[in-house]
Amino acid sequence: MNLKSIIRDIPDFPKPGIVFKDITPLLSDHTAFRSAIQDMSSHFADSSIDLIVGAEARGFIFGSVLAYEMGVGFVPARKPGKLPHRTANATYELEYGTDSLEIHEDAIERGQRVLIVDDVLATGGTAGAKTRLIEKLGGQVAGVAFLIELTFLGGRDKLEGYNVFSLISYE
Ligand code: AMP
Repeated sequence: MNLKSIIRDIPDFPKPGIVFKDITPLLSDHTAFRSAIQDMSSHFADSSIDLIVGAEARGFIFGSVLAYEMGVGFVPARKPGKLPHRTANATYELEYGTDSLEIHEDAIERGQRVLIVDDVLATGGTAGAKTRLIEKLGGQVAGVAFLIELTFLGGRDKLEGYNVFSLISYE
């Protein structure tokens, strides 16, 4: 299935110069959504995944459905202050300033094999923060999966040494 044809480009969103990859048409097409999830699932089928980590908001959509499909648990990564129990935190660079993500410190057991999932790999900053969080808690990053990779932003370089997979890439 040609997934690229169902992703909509929105120029100058959220600010001038950014071409936003709008995945909502893919989500509302059950054949396309299912096909994307099944392709990710089969790529990591032999990777002995124990858990999937996804960050709000679009990482929740792909991550939780993929976890269901693969028969593994899902761990949400959230913006600071949202999770109710004790958390671990990792900070990452934005264009201006920094941001951070948190996960519950008891969400990952030492040695568990974790797959990180998100919709878009851009600069790799948020995915890098997730790898640090998982490793801080003793988890092993077994893979990093994206629906879309914007190769011209070089995010893969920030994830060197990890098993990075994307279904669609834009040069
Ligand atoms: P990154 O720069 O790789 O840390 O990307 C940060 C987050 O912003 C990712 O989780 C993406 O979902 C989102 N993002 C970055 N660039 C785009 C884009 N061009 N279109 C849609 N989402 C994007």
